[in-house]
Amino acid sequence: MEPVDEPREECGVFGAWAPGEEVAKLAYYGLYAIQHRGQEAAGIAVSDGSSVVVYKDIGLVSQVFDESTLSSLRGHIAVGHCRYSTTGGNSWENAQPTFRTTTTGTSIALGHNGNLVNTSELAKRAANEGIKGLSGASTDSDVMTSLLAARPDLSIEAAAMELLPTLRGAFSLVFMDEHTLYAARDAQGVRPLVLGRLERGWVIASETAALDIVGASFVREVEPGELIAIDADGLRSQRWAVPEPKGCVFEYVYLARPDTTISGRGVHATRVEIGRRLAREHPVEADLVIPTPESGTPAAIGYAEESGIPYGQGLVKNAYVGRTFIQPSQTIRQLGIRLKLNPLRDVIRGKRLVVVDDSIVRGNTQRALVRMLRESGALEVHVRISSPPVKWPCFYGIDFASRAELVAGGLDVDGVRASIGADSLGYVSLDQLIAATEQPKSRLCAACFDGNYPIELPSADLIGKHVLEGVSRKVDAEGALERLDQAAGAEDAVRRP
Ligand code: SF4
Repeated sequence: MEPVDEPREECGVFGAWAPGEEVAKLAYYGLYAIQHRGQEAAGIAVSDGSSVVVYKDIGLVSQVFDESTLSSLRGHIAVGHCRYSTTGGNSWENAQPTFRTTTTGTSIALGHNGNLVNTSELAKRAANEGIKGLSGASTDSDVMTSLLAARPDLSIEAAAMELLPTLRGAFSLVFMDEHTLYAARDAQGVRPLVLGRLERGWVIASETAALDIVGASFVREVEPGELIAIDADGLRSQRWAVPEPKGCVFEYVYLARPDTTISGRGVHATRVEIGRRLAREHPVEADLVIPTPESGTPAAIGYAEESGIPYGQGLVKNAYVGRTFIQPSQTIRQLGIRLKLNPLRDVIRGKRLVVVDDSIVRGNTQRALVRMLRESGALEVHVRISSPPVKWPCFYGIDFASRAELVAGGLDVDGVRASIGADSLGYVSLDQLIAATEQPKSRLCAACFDGNYPIELPSADLIGKHVLEGVSRKVDAEGALERLDQAAGAEDAVRRP
């Protein structure tokens, strides 16, 4: 896989409880709306009240499902998931929803957005208790599902109330058995999760944009530390932890769709406001403000508004190229950034440019971008970034890079400027970013910028994306993972295309 040079989204989750509706199609459209959150694998589980069926595969939502597959997924409850791998590699086994049956025959399908930080501890506990996992799977979500299914003496709801307080990290969950749709969110509410109402049912989704696409009205957010259950008796809510909100500030910067609302604040409006504040903090004399499309666009609009410098489009994005699963040939690979962005030379030539982007991870993209703009005739290139320097890795569900790979991890602002070859470089300050979100600082996670991790992290060798793939030597040495073998019958209801 190519090195990551932009924040990679985590996952998107969707759930529906809607008798009389084609729930698989609701889930399909819901996942389509949040496809940006995960483009490696997709899956939908449905229940008709007597059995749960899961269909999942590697690929985009549109590649995994077709009309006939969706028509065969009949029922009134659905759980959907689109995945970018934040724990475990990209394989069919790691695609979600995950699936287990209990010894009493109840089925569980689960979709997870976020990343746990005590996966090793949970895997060890599962192994010690003789709880089996799915062969080939190496995700925190899979371990969670195994533990949930391991209490046949309890209802799924009661088992969840017991399990949830033992999970540490970020988790926005949708899960289901034959009769009930569940949703739960970690006590910090790091990743978003919202509840919507249909005329004949309920919807749960990662972002409000997924409610809009299925015609559901926004009801409220799933609260941090809450478990919701929806079945024929209606909606029940239980608290399993005292909420300590620490929503991810990066959702506002880059991750969420611009037409999504988080904690009552529109993401697009936030990004435009960040751009205005960026212009006040880092003014420059220039002829034209251009965005790095698409994610830099709202902040560039705000920068232009505030500075009075005209806004224009100087780069055209090859919108679907990042979503192809065909490896580029060597000739195409050598094009580098031109594979993604094409300059509008007539617009750029002879201009002093302000280029607005959302973040700098390794700096390779911006370096290539600055060079491309100069080659296209730009007189000056001033880079403005609508987030502070990313200095720390995220352990709560975003795949940036390791600290050593983050360009701002080892260089000051002028060092990064020199490294990318810009005439000047300005990042918005954390205080101004937070002010633009209109959320109190105390309710946000900003660990990738300031290193203050709101959920305690275990030691370095018990954490990370490949923690269940042999990287975590401590756990492997004790043989815990070997015992996470295939659960009998676990794949029976999971359809492999
Ligand atoms: S570390 Fe950064 S990306 Fe990760 S949850 Fe916190 S703010 Fe979001």
